[in-house]
Amino acid sequence: MPFGMNSLSVFLRNHRVHLMFDTLSQLPADPILGLISQFSQDERSQKIDLGVGVYRNTQGHTPILSAVKQAEQMLLTSEHTKAYIGPVGDAVFNRSMAELVLGKQHTALERMTMVQTPGGCGALRVAAELIKRTHADATIWVSDPTWGNHIPLLGDAGVTIKTYPYYNFNDHRLCFEAMFSCLEKVKAGDLVLLHGCCHNPSGTDLNTEHWQALVSLALRKGFVPFIDMAYQGFGEGIDEDASGFRLMCEQLPEVLLAVSCSKNFGLYRERVGAVGVVSAKKAIVESHIASIVRGIYSMPPSHGAAIVAAILSSEILRPLWERELGEMRERIQQVRKELVSSMNTLGAEGQFDHIARQSGMFSFLGLTETAVAALAKDFGIYMVASGRVSLAGLNPSNINTFCGALNKVRLR
Ligand code: PMP
Repeated sequence: MPFGMNSLSVFLRNHRVHLMFDTLSQLPADPILGLISQFSQDERSQKIDLGVGVYRNTQGHTPILSAVKQAEQMLLTSEHTKAYIGPVGDAVFNRSMAELVLGKQHTALERMTMVQTPGGCGALRVAAELIKRTHADATIWVSDPTWGNHIPLLGDAGVTIKTYPYYNFNDHRLCFEAMFSCLEKVKAGDLVLLHGCCHNPSGTDLNTEHWQALVSLALRKGFVPFIDMAYQGFGEGIDEDASGFRLMCEQLPEVLLAVSCSKNFGLYRERVGAVGVVSAKKAIVESHIASIVRGIYSMPPSHGAAIVAAILSSEILRPLWERELGEMRERIQQVRKELVSSMNTLGAEGQFDHIARQSGMFSFLGLTETAVAALAKDFGIYMVASGRVSLAGLNPSNINTFCGALNKVRLR
């Protein structure tokens, strides 16, 4: 007889059966996913979501870029097969992505292996598996704070994770001296994960002198930089945002890279990214990445990467994409300025100035957990408990409401 829930309970009462999932207990909801559900249950029409890290336009919508739509239309007629694409993905995509991150003239292009992955997350995980394969006792050093998913993505591969100081929550600035002296103690062969630009969650980036100092330190100590580039083009510009990474690839023998096309192409759900390795052993490294991929998900999904490849190799779509990316970048920069100027007008001079100095989608407001909870309860304004906001959630129709509420909570 087939089991329904009731007949199954009766059966289990009468038989001694070993159930494999009985040892598991319910896990708490992921903080961001939990926030989404709280937000959707809130019935207030003025509610504001500053939790989720996706770009939104002035209407609060996450649009499909026109360049993407047009590329999809082209693909609809030109695509002639849905046969497997193989573990390393699409060669045109891989080449175009290497040129996007390094620039077309970079000397490291010939030493760089680029392999298409399911999003930046897939790239991070494949890189972690590669690290484990080549250097099982290596530690990956991540910034404190870092993106919440870095530790599970890298740590679940079985690599040891440690943190280095990065952001000072009191003055809202990079604490480079503390970072540098911590990295002085890193052992040769360890990996140091750096955000290429638009640091998530702090919005605080390294400048050229910092990157250069880290290059010298990497050479002296023998650690390998591992760059996570999830927001190229969202900070200062496509080339500007990759400048630290390019500097490292010029002067160091080995660099790892995880890149995402989720934000700058707006392809979040298509899962497009790439793992990159700069090394003199390019072909050998690529063979290992292919074998790692084969053992996890066999091969990446094709559609999103085909869109990116079509855009980057088209003389018409590429400038269109660059323009659309520029609009997204400038809108966020504008929101940052408006927020600071409104808060200063409301009497909070100096308290939020860091937001205009920072870049990318995220910043910390510098609020206590109680203040964050009060914003949700009293005003329907949602953000993660650390007070990290995704600034793309603000627009001309809600920024004044937001600043008013923030000011009230700040004064309590
Ligand atoms: N790295 C960082 C720092 C991120 O913020 C994200 C996305 N939130 C990713 C990597 C990966 O993004 P995806 O897998 O969606 O491409």
